[in-house]
Amino acid sequence: MKTIGLLGGMSWESSIEYERLINEGVRAVRGGTASADLIVRSYDFATIEAFQEAGDWETAGELLATDARRLQDVGADLILLCTNTMHVVAPAIEAAITVPFLHLADATADAVLAAGVDTVALLGTRYTMEQDFYRGRLTDRGLTVVVPDEPDLTTVHDVIYEELVRGVVDARSKQRYLDVIDRLLARGVGGVIAGCTEIELLVTADDLTVPYFPTARLHADAAVRAALDLG
Ligand code: GLU
Repeated sequence: MKTIGLLGGMSWESSIEYERLINEGVRAVRGGTASADLIVRSYDFATIEAFQEAGDWETAGELLATDARRLQDVGADLILLCTNTMHVVAPAIEAAITVPFLHLADATADAVLAAGVDTVALLGTRYTMEQDFYRGRLTDRGLTVVVPDEPDLTTVHDVIYEELVRGVVDARSKQRYLDVIDRLLARGVGGVIAGCTEIELLVTADDLTVPYFPTARLHADAAVRAALDLG
């Protein structure tokens, strides 16, 4: 089994889910007492959030790239960055390592295409919904990506930073998300990407009538397949 390096803590509310999902995935395949072989670097999210707010992606990229290299140096055979947003700096990370980097947008695109969906809603942070680093990776695969209009876009972003990364899961916010999703469905989307790793703590597939793509789970599944050479 390959050793998986996780760049986590962005936020830890979702990266502990990554750990759980990857360990459960390995147990489901191997059985018995088997669990994943993990090396975790978990950040103080306040530090990362400060870089985001300052738009200092370069320093953030240097930090994550240095730590990705450290994970490789102590034995990681593949690296995951456990946040959609910080994939802004994926190129810096990929340039710093020689082991595979499992890009979250690729795992997501694979799942959306496998479900036969071609027009998909993307919910996430403002950075993920507005910038091209993530959307572009999906459109390059032939997908049409729809994001909320304002004020819904700001609502989706604010619930992440004011509640979900702080461990707050609020039924009223869930209803606000479901209302946003209804307006996206009226625009003709055939599925919804939870393009922030905390959103699946708030909204689950059972809440929707269309295919739902929870990115932490999809990324964790891809890691298990890679670690166990399941293809
Ligand atoms: N975990 C979130 C994401 O997947 C947001 C927190 C962050 O900015 O990293 O985008």
